[in-house]
Amino acid sequence: GRPKMEKNGQKHRRRLVLLPCPFQGHINPMLQLGSFLHSKGFSITVIHCNFNSPNPSNQPSFEFIPFQDGLSCNDVSSGDIVRIIQRANVGCKSHLHECLSQIITQRRGGQKDDVACIIHDELMYISQSVANSLKLPSIVFRTTCAATSLARTAIPILKAEGYIPFQDSESQDPVPGLHLLRFKDLPIPRSKTLGGFEQLVVDAYNIGTSSAIVWNTMESLELSLLEQIQQQCQVPVLPVGPVHKFAPASYCSSLLEEDRSCMSWLGKQTKNSVIYVSMGSLAFMDEKELTEMAWGLANSQQPFLWVIRPGSNSDGSDQRIEELPKVLRETFGERGCIVKWAPQKEVLAHSSVGGFLSHCGWNSTLESICEGVPMICRPSFGDQKVNARYLSHVWRVGFELEELERAQIEKAVRKLMVDKEGEAVRENANNLKGKAELCIREGGSSDNSLNRLVDMIMSF
Ligand code: UDP
Repeated sequence: GRPKMEKNGQKHRRRLVLLPCPFQGHINPMLQLGSFLHSKGFSITVIHCNFNSPNPSNQPSFEFIPFQDGLSCNDVSSGDIVRIIQRANVGCKSHLHECLSQIITQRRGGQKDDVACIIHDELMYISQSVANSLKLPSIVFRTTCAATSLARTAIPILKAEGYIPFQDSESQDPVPGLHLLRFKDLPIPRSKTLGGFEQLVVDAYNIGTSSAIVWNTMESLELSLLEQIQQQCQVPVLPVGPVHKFAPASYCSSLLEEDRSCMSWLGKQTKNSVIYVSMGSLAFMDEKELTEMAWGLANSQQPFLWVIRPGSNSDGSDQRIEELPKVLRETFGERGCIVKWAPQKEVLAHSSVGGFLSHCGWNSTLESICEGVPMICRPSFGDQKVNARYLSHVWRVGFELEELERAQIEKAVRKLMVDKEGEAVRENANNLKGKAELCIREGGSSDNSLNRLVDMIMSF
C-alpha cells in the first residue's frame, strides 16, 4: 500500500537536503524529484553550487542555500564539464561540510523538521563522505540511463584489456561485453581525452555507504539492465522515472528564461505537423551546421520550432538566425518559429508536435518518450550517444541522422513526420508512450519505487 505521511502527521514534517550537479540536465530531474517528495509532506532544502544556481523564485516552497563551489572563472569558461565537476567536488568539500552541519544543527533537538537524509547527484560524489562524517544517511540520484552507467563502469575494464586509448573512437565495431554499443557510442566526454574522466567514473560509481540508488529511468525501458545492476549492488536500486511526470506539469526549473510565445505559434499549426528541434543546454553547433540545419528544415516543408540557445555557436558567439541569408528566411517565413529557450515539456506534449530532432540528452529522451514523439537522433557527446543508440536500435522510436547536411536533414524530417518509411517508428513511439504510462500510474513500477523511497526515508 501507499505509505502514509499521516502516521507521523504534519506534526513531524521531516526535511530532506537535495544536492544537484550544476547543469540543467541534472538540476531539472533533482528538483522534480524534490517536488514529488514535497507533495508527500517533506520539507526541502536545496543546497547548490554558485555556478548555474537555480532560481529560487521558481520553487517558493523550497529553501535554497548556495555554498562556495571553489570554481574559478577559468574552470567555468573552459566549458570542460569533467573539469568543472571534479573541481567542484574538490573545491566545495569544506564549505559543503559547514553548510550541511549548520542545517542539521539548526533543525536538531525535537524540532519539527529534523533532517532525514541527503539526496545527491551521483556526480556530486563528495557529498557522501561529508554526509558520513556528519552521520547523515545519503542516497544517490542518477540522471542518466542504466545503459550509460554500465558502459561507463566498463571503461576501466576496456582499458585493462588494451582497448583504451582508442585506436579509432569512431569505430563501428561492437564493444566487447556491451553488445549493443559500438565504440563510437561509448559515453565519453567531448574532449575524448579520458584522463580525468576515468577517475570521475570511479568516484561517481563508488556508492560506498549510500542507502539507495534512486534512478531517473523506468523498468519499461531498462528492466534487464536494472536487474543486472541490482544483482551487483547491496542497496535498493529504485527506478523512479521519469520524475518530471511526478511533478506538476507546469513545474519550471530552467536556468534560461522560457520563451512562451512559441506556444501560441504551436496553437496555429495542424496536428502532428511540427518538428521540434533542440540540442539541449550544452551541445554546440558551428556556423556551417546552423546554416545546413536551417536549409534542411526550410526544404522539408514541415513547420518547425527550433531552439537556438544563446552562445550555442561553437566559438561561443551569439549567432542568431537573423544573420542567416534573407532568401533562406523568406523560404520558411511563418513556417518556422525560432526561440532561445522553450518550455520543452509543454512543447513535446502539444498536439501539433509530431517529431523531435534532438541531441538525445537523457531528459529530452524521457520527455519525448512520455509524449509518444518519435525522434531524429543527433547525439554529440557523453551519454547522448548511448541514448541515441538505444532510441534507434532497442526502443526503435527514432533513427540517427548521420550528418548535419541539408539534404539529409530534409529527408530525415520527411521520413519521421510524413513518409510511409517512418510509419513503424511513429507507431513504436505511440506504443512506448503507453508502456511509460504503465510505469507511472498508481501501482506501476516507478510509483512503487517512489513509495519505497518514501518508506525508506521515513525509517531513517
Ligand atoms: N530544455 C528546455 N528548453 C529548451 C531546451 C531544453 O526546457 O529549449 C530542457 C529539457 O526539457 C530538458 C533539459 O532542458 O529537461 C535538457 O536536459 P537533457 O538531459 O535533455 O540535455 P542536456 O542539456 O543535459 O544536454
